[in-house]
Amino acid sequence: MSSGRDFLNKVLSSLKEAAEYINLDPGIHEVLSRPKRVAIVSLPVKMDDGSIKVFTGIRVQHNNARGPYKGGIRYYPTVDVDEVTALAMLMTYKCAVVDLPYGGAKGGVACNPKEMSRNELERVTRRYTAMIYEIIGPYVDIPGPDVYTDAQIMAWIVDTYSQIRGVFTPEVVTGKPISLYGSLGRSDATSRGAVIAMRELAKALNKPLKDAKIAIQGFGNVGYNAARILYDEYGAKIIAVSDSKGGIYNENGLNPHAVIEHKNKTGTVVGFNGAENITNEELLTIPCDFLMPSALENVITKEIAEKINALAVVEGANGPTTAEGDRVLKERGIIVVPDILANAGGVTVSYLEWVQNLKRESWSLEEVNSRLEAKMVKGFNSVMEKSRKYEVAMRQGAMILAVERVAEAISYLGIWP
Ligand code: NAD
Repeated sequence: MSSGRDFLNKVLSSLKEAAEYINLDPGIHEVLSRPKRVAIVSLPVKMDDGSIKVFTGIRVQHNNARGPYKGGIRYYPTVDVDEVTALAMLMTYKCAVVDLPYGGAKGGVACNPKEMSRNELERVTRRYTAMIYEIIGPYVDIPGPDVYTDAQIMAWIVDTYSQIRGVFTPEVVTGKPISLYGSLGRSDATSRGAVIAMRELAKALNKPLKDAKIAIQGFGNVGYNAARILYDEYGAKIIAVSDSKGGIYNENGLNPHAVIEHKNKTGTVVGFNGAENITNEELLTIPCDFLMPSALENVITKEIAEKINALAVVEGANGPTTAEGDRVLKERGIIVVPDILANAGGVTVSYLEWVQNLKRESWSLEEVNSRLEAKMVKGFNSVMEKSRKYEVAMRQGAMILAVERVAEAISYLGIWP
Protein backbone atom coordinates (compact mmCIF):
# COMPACT_ATOMS: atom_id res chain seq x y z
CA MET A 1 0.00 0.00 0.00
CA SER A 2 1.22 3.52 -0.73
CA SER A 3 2.60 5.90 1.85
CA GLY A 4 -0.32 7.29 3.83
CA ARG A 5 1.04 10.85 3.72
CA ASP A 6 1.12 10.93 -0.11
CA PHE A 7 -2.39 9.55 -0.25
CA LEU A 8 -3.66 12.16 2.24
CA ASN A 9 -1.95 14.99 0.34
CA LYS A 10 -3.60 13.80 -2.87
CA VAL A 11 -7.07 13.88 -1.25
CA LEU A 12 -6.39 17.32 0.29
CA SER A 13 -5.25 18.74 -3.03
CA SER A 14 -8.39 17.53 -4.78
CA LEU A 15 -10.44 19.23 -2.02
CA LYS A 16 -8.44 22.42 -2.58
CA GLU A 17 -9.04 22.26 -6.31
CA ALA A 18 -12.82 21.81 -5.84
CA ALA A 19 -12.84 24.59 -3.22
CA GLU A 20 -11.32 27.00 -5.74
CA TYR A 21 -13.91 26.18 -8.40
CA ILE A 22 -16.84 26.82 -6.08
CA ASN A 23 -15.34 29.66 -4.06
CA LEU A 24 -15.72 27.67 -0.87
CA ASP A 25 -15.79 29.61 2.39
CA PRO A 26 -12.20 29.32 3.73
CA GLY A 27 -13.52 28.35 7.17
CA ILE A 28 -15.50 25.42 5.75
CA HIS A 29 -12.47 24.46 3.66
CA GLU A 30 -10.47 24.31 6.89
CA VAL A 31 -13.20 22.21 8.56
CA LEU A 32 -13.07 19.70 5.69
CA SER A 33 -9.26 19.62 5.68
CA ARG A 34 -9.22 17.90 9.07
CA PRO A 35 -11.01 14.91 10.56
CA LYS A 36 -13.48 15.68 13.35
CA ARG A 37 -12.10 12.92 15.54
CA VAL A 38 -9.13 10.55 15.45
CA ALA A 39 -9.19 7.68 17.93
CA ILE A 40 -5.99 5.69 18.41
CA VAL A 41 -6.31 2.71 20.71
CA SER A 42 -3.85 0.10 21.99
CA LEU A 43 -5.20 -3.42 21.81
CA PRO A 44 -3.56 -5.96 24.12
CA VAL A 45 -4.39 -9.39 22.72
CA LYS A 46 -3.60 -12.89 23.98
CA MET A 47 -1.96 -14.80 21.15
CA ASP A 48 -2.40 -18.57 20.67
CA ASP A 49 1.03 -19.26 22.19
CA GLY A 50 0.02 -17.51 25.43
CA SER A 51 2.05 -14.34 24.83
CA ILE A 52 0.48 -10.87 24.88
CA LYS A 53 0.84 -8.65 21.81
CA VAL A 54 -0.30 -5.02 21.65
CA PHE A 55 -1.78 -3.90 18.32
CA THR A 56 -2.66 -0.36 17.29
CA GLY A 57 -6.25 0.34 16.29
CA ILE A 58 -7.45 3.51 14.59
CA ARG A 59 -10.87 5.03 13.88
CA VAL A 60 -10.98 8.31 11.99
CA GLN A 61 -14.29 10.20 11.78
CA HIS A 62 -13.96 12.88 9.14
CA ASN A 63 -17.32 14.62 8.83
CA ASN A 64 -20.93 13.86 9.83
CA ALA A 65 -22.80 16.92 8.55
CA ARG A 66 -24.90 14.76 6.18
CA GLY A 67 -25.51 11.83 8.54
CA PRO A 68 -23.80 9.25 10.74
CA TYR A 69 -20.19 8.44 9.92
CA LYS A 70 -19.78 5.45 7.58
CA GLY A 71 -16.67 3.58 6.49
CA GLY A 72 -14.91 0.23 6.50
CA ILE A 73 -12.24 -1.24 8.75
CA ARG A 74 -9.04 -2.55 7.20
CA TYR A 75 -6.58 -4.97 8.76
CA TYR A 76 -3.18 -4.37 7.20
CA PRO A 77 0.38 -4.28 8.60
CA THR A 78 1.21 -0.75 7.40
CA VAL A 79 -2.10 0.95 8.28
CA ASP A 80 -1.42 4.43 9.70
CA VAL A 81 -3.40 7.52 10.69
CA ASP A 82 -2.68 9.40 7.45
CA GLU A 83 -3.89 6.55 5.25
CA VAL A 84 -7.02 6.01 7.37
CA THR A 85 -7.71 9.77 7.35
CA ALA A 86 -7.41 9.93 3.55
CA LEU A 87 -9.82 7.01 3.23
CA ALA A 88 -12.24 8.58 5.74
CA MET A 89 -12.27 11.78 3.67
CA LEU A 90 -12.95 9.81 0.47
CA MET A 91 -15.90 8.19 2.26
CA THR A 92 -17.42 11.61 3.08
CA TYR A 93 -17.24 12.57 -0.61
CA LYS A 94 -18.28 9.14 -1.94
CA CYS A 95 -21.44 9.12 0.20
CA ALA A 96 -22.22 12.68 -0.93
CA VAL A 97 -21.74 11.85 -4.65
CA VAL A 98 -24.37 9.10 -4.56
CA ASP A 99 -26.45 11.10 -2.09
CA LEU A 100 -26.44 8.68 0.85
CA PRO A 101 -27.43 10.13 4.24
CA TYR A 102 -23.98 9.48 5.69
CA GLY A 103 -20.75 11.20 6.58
CA GLY A 104 -17.33 9.60 6.22
CA ALA A 105 -15.09 7.52 8.48
CA LYS A 106 -12.57 4.72 8.22
CA GLY A 107 -10.90 2.32 10.63
CA GLY A 108 -7.86 0.17 10.72
CA VAL A 109 -5.83 -2.21 12.83
CA ALA A 110 -2.12 -2.56 12.10
CA CYS A 111 -1.81 -6.34 11.92
CA ASN A 112 -1.12 -9.06 9.39
CA PRO A 113 -4.18 -11.33 9.17
CA LYS A 114 -2.25 -13.71 6.89
CA GLU A 115 -0.01 -14.59 9.87
CA MET A 116 -2.79 -14.82 12.46
CA SER A 117 -5.14 -17.64 13.40
CA ARG A 118 -8.94 -17.20 13.25
CA ASN A 119 -9.00 -17.16 17.09
CA GLU A 120 -6.39 -14.40 17.22
CA LEU A 121 -8.34 -12.38 14.65
CA GLU A 122 -11.49 -12.81 16.71
CA ARG A 123 -9.73 -11.54 19.86
CA VAL A 124 -8.25 -8.53 18.00
CA THR A 125 -11.69 -7.71 16.58
CA ARG A 126 -13.52 -7.99 19.90
CA ARG A 127 -10.87 -5.92 21.70
CA TYR A 128 -10.93 -3.24 18.98
CA THR A 129 -14.75 -3.11 19.21
CA ALA A 130 -14.62 -2.88 23.01
CA MET A 131 -12.17 0.02 22.76
CA ILE A 132 -14.23 2.06 20.26
CA TYR A 133 -17.81 1.07 21.19
CA GLU A 134 -18.51 4.46 22.75
CA ILE A 135 -17.90 6.29 19.47
CA ILE A 136 -19.70 3.91 17.08
CA GLY A 137 -23.39 3.00 16.86
CA PRO A 138 -26.26 2.72 14.35
CA TYR A 139 -26.94 6.49 14.41
CA VAL A 140 -23.36 7.53 15.17
CA ASP A 141 -20.80 5.63 13.11
CA ILE A 142 -21.43 2.41 11.16
CA PRO A 143 -18.30 0.44 10.22
CA GLY A 144 -18.16 -2.18 7.46
CA PRO A 145 -15.58 -4.48 5.87
CA ASP A 146 -12.56 -3.33 3.87
CA VAL A 147 -9.20 -4.87 2.95
CA TYR A 148 -8.74 -8.21 4.81
CA THR A 149 -11.89 -7.93 6.89
CA ASP A 150 -15.00 -9.94 6.06
CA ALA A 151 -18.54 -10.89 7.07
CA GLN A 152 -17.33 -13.04 10.00
CA ILE A 153 -15.38 -10.11 11.42
CA MET A 154 -18.51 -7.94 11.13
CA ALA A 155 -20.47 -10.65 13.00
CA TRP A 156 -17.94 -10.55 15.90
CA ILE A 157 -18.36 -6.76 16.04
CA VAL A 158 -22.16 -7.15 16.23
CA ASP A 159 -21.84 -9.67 19.06
CA THR A 160 -19.29 -7.65 21.06
CA TYR A 161 -21.15 -4.35 20.64
CA SER A 162 -24.54 -5.94 21.44
CA GLN A 163 -23.20 -7.64 24.58
CA ILE A 164 -21.61 -4.44 25.90
CA ARG A 165 -24.73 -2.36 25.17
CA GLY A 166 -27.11 -5.07 26.33
CA VAL A 167 -29.21 -4.65 23.15
CA PHE A 168 -29.00 -6.80 20.02
CA THR A 169 -27.76 -4.30 17.42
CA PRO A 170 -27.01 -5.79 14.00
CA GLU A 171 -27.37 -2.33 12.41
CA VAL A 172 -24.08 -1.19 14.03
CA VAL A 173 -22.14 -2.59 11.04
CA THR A 174 -22.83 -3.55 7.43
CA GLY A 175 -21.38 -6.32 5.27
CA LYS A 176 -22.67 -9.00 7.67
CA PRO A 177 -23.41 -12.64 6.80
CA ILE A 178 -26.81 -13.00 5.07
CA SER A 179 -28.06 -15.16 7.97
CA LEU A 180 -27.21 -12.34 10.41
CA TYR A 181 -29.07 -9.45 8.78
CA GLY A 182 -26.66 -9.05 5.84
CA SER A 183 -28.15 -7.89 2.51
CA LEU A 184 -28.53 -9.86 -0.68
CA GLY A 185 -26.42 -8.26 -3.41
CA ARG A 186 -23.76 -6.80 -1.05
CA SER A 187 -20.97 -9.13 -2.14
CA ASP A 188 -20.93 -7.98 -5.77
CA ALA A 189 -22.39 -4.48 -5.20
CA THR A 190 -19.13 -2.57 -5.78
CA SER A 191 -18.60 -4.36 -9.11
CA ARG A 192 -22.23 -3.99 -10.18
CA GLY A 193 -22.07 -0.26 -9.40
CA ALA A 194 -18.81 0.12 -11.34
CA VAL A 195 -20.29 -1.71 -14.32
CA ILE A 196 -23.35 0.59 -14.23
CA ALA A 197 -21.02 3.62 -14.27
CA MET A 198 -19.08 2.08 -17.19
CA ARG A 199 -22.34 1.37 -19.06
CA GLU A 200 -23.57 4.95 -18.61
CA LEU A 201 -20.24 6.29 -19.89
CA ALA A 202 -20.34 3.83 -22.80
CA LYS A 203 -23.80 5.17 -23.66
CA ALA A 204 -22.53 8.76 -23.57
CA LEU A 205 -19.62 7.77 -25.84
CA ASN A 206 -21.88 5.83 -28.17
CA LYS A 207 -19.74 2.75 -27.62
CA PRO A 208 -21.91 -0.29 -26.75
CA LEU A 209 -20.56 -2.58 -24.01
CA LYS A 210 -21.41 -5.60 -26.15
CA ASP A 211 -18.07 -6.81 -27.55
CA ALA A 212 -16.27 -3.84 -25.94
CA LYS A 213 -12.70 -4.82 -25.01
CA ILE A 214 -12.11 -4.66 -21.26
CA ALA A 215 -8.89 -5.07 -19.24
CA ILE A 216 -9.18 -5.53 -15.46
CA GLN A 217 -6.33 -5.31 -12.96
CA GLY A 218 -7.03 -7.39 -9.83
CA PHE A 219 -9.13 -10.55 -9.81
CA GLY A 220 -10.46 -10.34 -6.24
CA ASN A 221 -13.91 -9.32 -5.05
CA VAL A 222 -14.18 -6.23 -7.25
CA GLY A 223 -12.22 -7.39 -10.33
CA TYR A 224 -13.65 -10.89 -10.64
CA ASN A 225 -17.27 -9.86 -10.08
CA ALA A 226 -16.97 -7.00 -12.56
CA ALA A 227 -15.54 -9.40 -15.17
CA ARG A 228 -18.35 -11.88 -14.50
CA ILE A 229 -21.14 -9.27 -14.73
CA LEU A 230 -19.67 -7.68 -17.89
CA TYR A 231 -19.29 -11.10 -19.54
CA ASP A 232 -22.62 -12.66 -18.45
CA GLU A 233 -24.94 -9.66 -18.57
CA TYR A 234 -23.45 -7.36 -21.21
CA GLY A 235 -21.57 -9.66 -23.61
CA ALA A 236 -18.38 -7.63 -23.18
CA LYS A 237 -14.99 -9.11 -24.11
CA ILE A 238 -12.72 -9.47 -21.08
CA ILE A 239 -9.40 -9.45 -22.93
CA ALA A 240 -7.04 -9.27 -19.92
CA VAL A 241 -7.11 -9.81 -16.15
CA SER A 242 -4.41 -9.98 -13.48
CA ASP A 243 -3.61 -10.58 -9.83
CA SER A 244 -0.56 -10.01 -7.62
CA LYS A 245 1.37 -12.74 -9.48
CA GLY A 246 0.80 -11.37 -13.01
CA GLY A 247 -1.78 -11.23 -15.78
CA ILE A 248 -3.23 -13.06 -18.78
CA TYR A 249 -4.33 -11.84 -22.19
CA ASN A 250 -6.43 -13.14 -25.06
CA GLU A 251 -7.61 -10.66 -27.65
CA ASN A 252 -10.66 -12.83 -28.41
CA GLY A 253 -11.81 -12.67 -24.79
CA LEU A 254 -11.52 -14.77 -21.62
CA ASN A 255 -14.31 -16.65 -19.83
CA PRO A 256 -14.18 -15.31 -16.23
CA HIS A 257 -15.86 -18.47 -14.87
CA ALA A 258 -13.10 -20.65 -16.30
CA VAL A 259 -10.43 -18.19 -15.11
CA ILE A 260 -11.70 -18.18 -11.49
CA GLU A 261 -11.78 -21.99 -11.54
CA HIS A 262 -8.13 -21.95 -12.61
CA LYS A 263 -7.28 -19.34 -9.93
CA ASN A 264 -9.05 -21.34 -7.22
CA LYS A 265 -7.03 -24.42 -8.20
CA THR A 266 -3.62 -22.79 -8.66
CA GLY A 267 -3.80 -19.60 -6.59
CA THR A 268 -3.34 -17.30 -9.59
CA VAL A 269 -4.78 -16.39 -12.99
CA VAL A 270 -1.29 -16.84 -14.50
CA GLY A 271 -0.87 -19.97 -16.64
CA PHE A 272 -4.53 -20.07 -17.73
CA ASN A 273 -4.92 -22.31 -20.74
CA GLY A 274 -5.61 -20.41 -23.96
CA ALA A 275 -4.13 -17.09 -22.86
CA GLU A 276 -0.78 -15.39 -23.05
CA ASN A 277 0.93 -14.48 -19.74
CA ILE A 278 1.58 -10.74 -19.34
CA THR A 279 2.86 -8.47 -16.58
CA ASN A 280 0.67 -6.11 -14.57
CA GLU A 281 2.29 -3.19 -16.37
CA GLU A 282 1.46 -4.72 -19.76
CA LEU A 283 -2.14 -5.18 -18.60
CA LEU A 284 -2.49 -1.50 -17.78
CA THR A 285 -1.16 -0.42 -21.17
CA ILE A 286 -2.84 -2.98 -23.42
CA PRO A 287 -5.07 -1.57 -26.21
CA CYS A 288 -8.67 -1.80 -24.96
CA ASP A 289 -11.88 0.23 -24.72
CA PHE A 290 -12.23 0.26 -20.92
CA LEU A 291 -9.50 -0.25 -18.34
CA MET A 292 -10.61 -1.08 -14.81
CA PRO A 293 -7.92 -0.93 -12.11
CA SER A 294 -9.42 -3.00 -9.27
CA ALA A 295 -6.48 -3.86 -7.05
CA LEU A 296 -4.22 -1.28 -5.44
CA GLU A 297 -3.59 2.41 -4.91
CA ASN A 298 -1.25 4.49 -7.10
CA VAL A 299 -0.73 1.98 -9.95
CA ILE A 300 -1.46 4.50 -12.73
CA THR A 301 1.65 6.61 -12.43
CA LYS A 302 2.77 9.32 -14.87
CA GLU A 303 4.85 6.75 -16.82
CA ILE A 304 1.97 4.26 -17.07
CA ALA A 305 -0.54 7.00 -17.94
CA GLU A 306 1.64 8.01 -20.90
CA LYS A 307 1.28 4.48 -22.28
CA ILE A 308 -2.38 3.73 -21.51
CA ASN A 309 -4.23 2.76 -24.63
CA ALA A 310 -7.89 2.89 -23.56
CA LEU A 311 -10.91 5.08 -24.25
CA ALA A 312 -11.63 5.35 -20.54
CA VAL A 313 -10.48 4.24 -17.09
CA VAL A 314 -13.11 3.17 -14.56
CA GLU A 315 -11.60 3.19 -11.05
CA GLY A 316 -12.82 0.07 -9.24
CA ALA A 317 -10.04 0.45 -6.64
CA ASN A 318 -9.68 3.38 -4.23
CA GLY A 319 -7.04 5.86 -5.38
CA PRO A 320 -5.48 3.82 -8.25
CA THR A 321 -4.32 6.93 -10.15
CA THR A 322 -1.56 9.24 -8.89
CA ALA A 323 -2.00 13.02 -9.21
CA GLU A 324 0.58 13.14 -12.05
CA GLY A 325 -0.99 10.11 -13.73
CA ASP A 326 -4.34 11.87 -13.62
CA ARG A 327 -2.90 14.99 -15.25
CA VAL A 328 -1.40 12.95 -18.09
CA LEU A 329 -4.67 11.08 -18.70
CA LYS A 330 -6.52 14.40 -18.86
CA GLU A 331 -4.00 15.86 -21.33
CA ARG A 332 -4.32 12.75 -23.47
CA GLY A 333 -8.14 12.96 -23.49
CA ILE A 334 -8.61 9.65 -21.68
CA ILE A 335 -11.78 9.81 -19.59
CA VAL A 336 -11.56 8.70 -15.95
CA VAL A 337 -14.62 7.66 -13.95
CA PRO A 338 -13.24 8.48 -10.49
CA ASP A 339 -13.26 6.12 -7.52
CA ILE A 340 -15.71 8.18 -5.45
CA LEU A 341 -18.31 7.53 -8.14
CA ALA A 342 -17.15 4.29 -9.79
CA ASN A 343 -16.84 2.18 -6.64
CA ALA A 344 -19.67 3.76 -4.64
CA GLY A 345 -21.90 0.72 -5.26
CA GLY A 346 -20.42 -1.02 -2.21
CA VAL A 347 -21.38 1.67 0.29
CA THR A 348 -24.72 2.11 -1.48
CA VAL A 349 -25.73 -1.48 -0.76
CA SER A 350 -24.26 -1.13 2.76
CA TYR A 351 -26.73 1.72 3.19
CA LEU A 352 -29.54 -0.50 1.86
CA GLU A 353 -28.47 -3.19 4.37
CA TRP A 354 -28.65 -0.64 7.20
CA VAL A 355 -32.13 0.53 6.13
CA GLN A 356 -33.36 -3.09 6.00
CA ASN A 357 -31.86 -3.70 9.48
CA LEU A 358 -33.49 -0.63 11.01
CA LYS A 359 -36.87 -1.78 9.66
CA ARG A 360 -36.12 -5.47 10.43
CA GLU A 361 -36.95 -6.22 6.79
CA SER A 362 -35.21 -8.32 4.20
CA TRP A 363 -35.49 -7.31 0.56
CA SER A 364 -35.21 -9.45 -2.57
CA LEU A 365 -32.09 -9.29 -4.74
CA GLU A 366 -34.14 -7.57 -7.47
CA GLU A 367 -35.24 -4.85 -5.05
CA VAL A 368 -31.67 -4.24 -3.83
CA ASN A 369 -30.22 -4.19 -7.35
CA SER A 370 -32.89 -1.85 -8.68
CA ARG A 371 -32.26 0.64 -5.85
CA LEU A 372 -28.50 0.37 -6.49
CA GLU A 373 -29.08 0.99 -10.19
CA ALA A 374 -31.15 4.12 -9.45
CA LYS A 375 -28.55 5.57 -7.06
CA MET A 376 -25.64 4.92 -9.43
CA VAL A 377 -27.37 6.36 -12.51
CA LYS A 378 -28.42 9.47 -10.59
CA GLY A 379 -24.88 9.88 -9.18
CA PHE A 380 -23.38 9.45 -12.66
CA ASN A 381 -25.72 12.03 -14.22
CA SER A 382 -25.14 14.55 -11.41
CA VAL A 383 -21.36 14.22 -11.85
CA MET A 384 -21.67 14.68 -15.63
CA GLU A 385 -23.81 17.76 -15.08
CA LYS A 386 -21.19 19.33 -12.77
CA SER A 387 -18.38 18.44 -15.18
CA ARG A 388 -20.22 20.14 -18.03
CA LYS A 389 -21.12 23.20 -15.95
CA TYR A 390 -17.56 23.78 -14.76
CA GLU A 391 -15.92 22.38 -17.93
CA VAL A 392 -13.82 19.94 -15.92
CA ALA A 393 -13.06 16.21 -15.96
CA MET A 394 -15.34 13.78 -14.10
CA ARG A 395 -12.95 13.59 -11.12
CA GLN A 396 -13.20 17.33 -10.51
CA GLY A 397 -16.94 17.24 -11.28
CA ALA A 398 -17.47 14.54 -8.65
CA MET A 399 -15.45 16.43 -6.03
CA ILE A 400 -17.29 19.69 -6.77
CA LEU A 401 -20.65 17.93 -6.39
CA ALA A 402 -19.58 16.26 -3.13
CA VAL A 403 -17.95 19.30 -1.55
CA GLU A 404 -20.93 21.51 -2.42
CA ARG A 405 -23.34 19.04 -0.78
CA VAL A 406 -21.26 18.66 2.39
CA ALA A 407 -20.53 22.39 2.64
CA GLU A 408 -24.22 23.23 2.26
CA ALA A 409 -25.10 20.87 5.12
CA ILE A 410 -22.38 22.41 7.33
CA SER A 411 -23.69 25.93 6.58
CA TYR A 412 -27.29 25.04 7.45
CA LEU A 413 -26.29 23.24 10.64
CA GLY A 414 -24.10 26.15 11.70
CA ILE A 415 -21.09 26.09 13.95
CA TRP A 416 -22.06 25.39 17.57
CA PRO A 417 -21.06 25.90 20.34
P1 NAD B 1 -9.47 -8.27 -2.85
O1 NAD B 1 -8.46 -8.50 -1.78
O2 NAD B 1 -10.66 -9.18 -2.94
O3 NAD B 1 -8.76 -8.32 -4.30
C1 NAD B 1 -7.60 -7.61 -4.60
C2 NAD B 1 -7.00 -8.18 -5.88
O4 NAD B 1 -5.84 -7.41 -6.20
C3 NAD B 1 -6.53 -9.62 -5.77
O5 NAD B 1 -6.85 -10.30 -6.97
C4 NAD B 1 -5.01 -9.49 -5.66
O6 NAD B 1 -4.31 -10.61 -6.20
C5 NAD B 1 -4.78 -8.28 -6.54
N1 NAD B 1 -3.48 -7.66 -6.28
C6 NAD B 1 -2.82 -7.51 -5.10
N2 NAD B 1 -1.61 -6.97 -5.31
C7 NAD B 1 -1.51 -6.74 -6.65
C8 NAD B 1 -0.52 -6.21 -7.50
N3 NAD B 1 0.65 -5.80 -7.00
N4 NAD B 1 -0.77 -6.12 -8.82
C9 NAD B 1 -1.95 -6.55 -9.33
N5 NAD B 1 -2.91 -7.08 -8.59
C10 NAD B 1 -2.71 -7.18 -7.26
O7 NAD B 1 -9.92 -6.75 -2.68
P2 NAD B 1 -11.21 -6.02 -3.27
O8 NAD B 1 -12.28 -6.01 -2.23
O9 NAD B 1 -11.50 -6.57 -4.62
O10 NAD B 1 -10.69 -4.51 -3.36
C11 NAD B 1 -9.92 -4.06 -4.47
C12 NAD B 1 -9.91 -2.53 -4.45
O11 NAD B 1 -11.26 -2.04 -4.50
C13 NAD B 1 -9.30 -1.87 -3.19
O12 NAD B 1 -8.70 -0.65 -3.58
C14 NAD B 1 -10.53 -1.56 -2.33
O13 NAD B 1 -10.28 -0.50 -1.40
C15 NAD B 1 -11.49 -1.14 -3.42
N6 NAD B 1 -12.89 -1.20 -3.01
C16 NAD B 1 -13.47 -2.37 -2.64
C17 NAD B 1 -14.80 -2.39 -2.26
C18 NAD B 1 -15.50 -3.67 -1.90
O14 NAD B 1 -16.71 -3.62 -1.66
N7 NAD B 1 -14.82 -4.83 -1.89
C19 NAD B 1 -15.55 -1.19 -2.24
C20 NAD B 1 -14.93 0.00 -2.65
C21 NAD B 1 -13.61 -0.03 -3.03
